[in-house]
Amino acid sequence: MTLTTPLRELALSPQRLRQVERAGLLTVGDLLTHYPKRYEDRSHFEAFPTHESEEARCVCGVVKKTTLKRLRGRMRLFEVHLEEAEGHALSGRLVCKWFNQPWVEKAISVGHELVVYGRPKRWGAQISFDAPEFEVAEPGSDASIHMRRIVPVHRATEGLPARALRELVYATLALLTPAAAPNLIPASLDGMARAEALRQIHFPDSWEALEQARRHLVLTEFFGMQLAIAAQHEAQRAELGEKHAASGELMRKLHARLPFPLTRAQERVIVEIRHDMLSTHRMNRLLHGDVGSGKTLVALSAMLLAVEAGFQAALMAPTQILAEQHYLNFRRLLEPLGISVALRTGSRKEDSLLPLFDTSGEGAPQIFVGTHALLYEDEATPLARLGLVVIDEQHKFGVLQRARLRDRAAGAPDVLVMTATPIPRTLTMTVYGDLDISVLDELPRNRGKIVTAAREPSKLPEAAKFIRQHLEAGRQAYIVYPLIDESEKLEAKAAATEFKKWQELLAPLPCDLLHGRIPPEEKEAIMERFRRGETKALIATTVIEVGIDVPNANLMLIENAERFGLAQLHQLRGRIGRGEHKSYCILLSSADDPEALEKLRILESTSDGFKIAEADLQTRGPGDLLGTAQSGLSGLKLGDMRKDADLMHQARGTAYVLIERDPRLELPENRVYRAHLVAAGRAELAKVS
Ligand code: ADP
Ligand code: MG
Repeated sequence: MTLTTPLRELALSPQRLRQVERAGLLTVGDLLTHYPKRYEDRSHFEAFPTHESEEARCVCGVVKKTTLKRLRGRMRLFEVHLEEAEGHALSGRLVCKWFNQPWVEKAISVGHELVVYGRPKRWGAQISFDAPEFEVAEPGSDASIHMRRIVPVHRATEGLPARALRELVYATLALLTPAAAPNLIPASLDGMARAEALRQIHFPDSWEALEQARRHLVLTEFFGMQLAIAAQHEAQRAELGEKHAASGELMRKLHARLPFPLTRAQERVIVEIRHDMLSTHRMNRLLHGDVGSGKTLVALSAMLLAVEAGFQAALMAPTQILAEQHYLNFRRLLEPLGISVALRTGSRKEDSLLPLFDTSGEGAPQIFVGTHALLYEDEATPLARLGLVVIDEQHKFGVLQRARLRDRAAGAPDVLVMTATPIPRTLTMTVYGDLDISVLDELPRNRGKIVTAAREPSKLPEAAKFIRQHLEAGRQAYIVYPLIDESEKLEAKAAATEFKKWQELLAPLPCDLLHGRIPPEEKEAIMERFRRGETKALIATTVIEVGIDVPNANLMLIENAERFGLAQLHQLRGRIGRGEHKSYCILLSSADDPEALEKLRILESTSDGFKIAEADLQTRGPGDLLGTAQSGLSGLKLGDMRKDADLMHQARGTAYVLIERDPRLELPENRVYRAHLVAAGRAELAKVS
C-alpha cells in the first residue's frame, strides 16, 4: 500500500466506501491528510462543569435517565441526564439537550457510558450542554482507539461520523510502512519520519508529539509550495531572450519634459529594470509601490527603453477605464516625442479589425495599451516585436497564471508586473516568489496630506455639507458605495438610488454616476468629464479602486466602509491626495457595529500600506487579501500563513538552496522531491529522464 493506493482497494464495506468517496476521499493519501479538526484528551476527563463558560469541555459520564418531551408544534426535546463516572470526588450531574434529533434519541440509552464535548450553559440551577458532540463508549470496542488517549475528531460528513473515520484512519495507518510515505523534506529541515508524523497527527502519544508531527507536515506542505516556486523562478532565470534596452536617450527626453523631478526611488528602480532589460536573461520583475508612488512613470520609462531598442512595448491594465486613462496619458506625454501609441481593449469589436499589432507596415504603434482580458483571448494576435509587457495593478494573478501568460507572448518579452497591494512579506515570497522585486518606497514630495475619519452613518448630512463646501471652492469628490448584489438588476437599482440621493444632497452641483454596467463609451465620457472638472462629484462603485488619477479630486466618502477590507479601503483612498490640496477621506460605517468602526480606526492613524496589509491579514486571512484560488494557497491543508510564517521562511530557504544546487532535481537524493512539482502541475520543470 502507498499513499496513492485507491481506497477501493482496501477492505471497506461497499457502503462505507461510497460514503468515503462521497466525502472526496479517494486515495490513502486523501484519507491520511484529512487531518483532525480537533482533539479530545480522553486520557483523563475534566470534572463536570459547575459554571457557564464559553470554553468547550470534554467530559465522560454514565447515562442515568433520558426523557423525551413534546413541545409546542412538533418540537421534540430529548434530555439525557449524566452522572459522573467514578474517579471524581464530587460526583456531579449534567444534562444534555437535543431538539428534534431523532437519531440521537435512538443512539443513547440508560447505562451507556457517554463522552460529550460542548459548552456549559446554565439553565436555572442546572448546568447543561446544548446539542453537544457525543460518542457512546461502546463496551468491547477497541479502547485504544476511542478512549484512554488523546483522541482525534475528524470533520464528519453525512453518513460518516467522526467515530467511523477514526476507525478507518486507524486501520489504514496500521498498514502504512515508512517506505510507503517517504520523507518529502530534507532532514536538515526536519528529521521526523513522515509515516510517524502521519501517525502522530491522527493518534498523538502526547501533545508534544502532536506539535512535532504538525510541524513536520506543515513544513512538508510549505516546502513543496516553495520548491515549485523556486523551480519556476530558476527556469525563468535560465530562459534567454534578447537585449531589450538601449542607451536611454528617449527616456531621458521624457524625464526632461516633466514638470517634476523623479523621486530617488523611481531613479533607483529604473536602474534595476534597465539592468534586467539590458541582459539577455528574460526579466520577470515585480514593481511594488504604494498607491501614488508613481509606478506608471517607471513603467513608461521602461517602455521607452524597449522602443528605443527597436521593440514594441505593451501595458495591460485590469479594466477598460484604466486602459483608457493610461492611453490618454501616454499620448499626451509621448506624442511630442514622436512616438505612436495605440489602444486596444477587448470590448470594442471594431478595434480588433485594426491591424494594431501588425508590425510589418509603416506606422505600427510603438506602444500600446490594452486590458488583461486581451491576454486571455484565444486568438490573441502575436506581438512579433514585443520587447516588454507591463502588467498593471495586478495582485490577483497567481504564480502559475503568470507563467502561462508569459508563455503565450511570442518573442520572449521582458515582463514587469506592477502592484500597489502592499503584501506582507510572508505572502510576497509565496505569491510573487517567482519574481525579482523592486520597491518604490517613497512618495513624490508634492503630495497633499490625507486626513481620514471613520464615522457613524448618522454623520452623513454633516459629511455632505463638508463636501459641498469644498466642491464649491473648486475641488472634486468621489462618493463610493458598496456593491450589494452582483446581479445586474439590483446593481442598477442600487446605483440609481444612491445617485438620486447624492444629487439631492449636492444639488445643484453636477454629479455623475459610474459603475461596472455602464457601456464602455459612456464610461469613457464620464471619466473625461470628471477629469476636465465639468462634474464635481463621481458617485461610483469600486470601479475606481485602481489607478484612476485626477489630482483635483481631494475628497472621498465611502459608505458602508466596513464591508471592504482595510487594504481595499487604502487602495480606494489612494485616489485622493494626488494634488497639492489637503485631502479628506470619510469612512461611514454602519451604526449597529461599533467593532467595525473600531477596525476602521487604523486607517485614521496610519497611511502605511504595509501596516494596513498586516492588519488585514490578521483579521481576514490571506485568501481574502489575494483572491483565494489563484494565490496558490489552496494546497494548504494544515499550514497557516499567519501562524506559521516562521516555518514558511525555513521552508523557503531550504527550497531555494536546493534548487540553486540542483535546478532540475537530477541528483538521486533529490529525485523524491519531484513529487512536489508534479503536485503543483509543474512537472516539466524537473528533468524528465
Ligand atoms: P501609482 O503608483 O499609484 O500607479 P501613478 O503612477 O498613478 O501612481 O502616479 C500618481 C501621480 O503622481 C500621477 O499624477 C503622476 O503624474 C504623479 N507623479 C509620478 N511621479 C512623480 C514625481 N516624481 N513627482 C511628482 N509627481 C509624480
Ligand atoms: Mg497606477
